[in-house]
Amino acid sequence: MSLIICKFCKSENNTESERCFSCNAPLPKINALSEKAKEHLSNYINSIEKRLKAEKKKADTPLFITFTLVLLVWIFSSFVSYKSFPDDTGIIITFSIILGAGLFLAWGGSISYFEQKAIDKAFNPKIKDEIVEYLKEMKISELNFKITATETLPNKSLLTSLLDNI
Ligand SMILES: [Zn+2]
Repeated sequence: MSLIICKFCKSENNTESERCFSCNAPLPKINALSEKAKEHLSNYINSIEKRLKAEKKKADTPLFITFTLVLLVWIFSSFVSYKSFPDDTGIIITFSIILGAGLFLAWGGSISYFEQKAIDKAFNPKIKDEIVEYLKEMKISELNFKITATETLPNKSLLTSLLDNI
């Protein structure tokens, strides 16, 4: 179910409500879209989601390169530790494991960072401006767009996480 956040007191209200249950401020009106209009809007929303996914994918090439670099650093450091303590396998193995875990954890963390950066860069201002333009052209309110997007997309979609920026 979709909700409207009251812009004055931030309470969550049903989309059917005309006034905020908490502070009684008028809530923005939602003009019901026709089935056809809703379908078109859903298609549009899905196409935006697809574009964002493509941007996310584009970030994967540099990530593959950094993965190779991390791997090389790990192998090299393990080799150096083997050279430095040739008689103490315990130290070498411990060092190797700790270093490996640290490196790959850092790399794993950087994945979401770089992917999110790629998505943000594509979205703001380009895709965002296009959405605003589309809504203006089609005479659809931003609220209607957000509600339809919430209904169309799965919870963890890329566009859903960006809706607050529109
Ligand atoms: Zn309120």
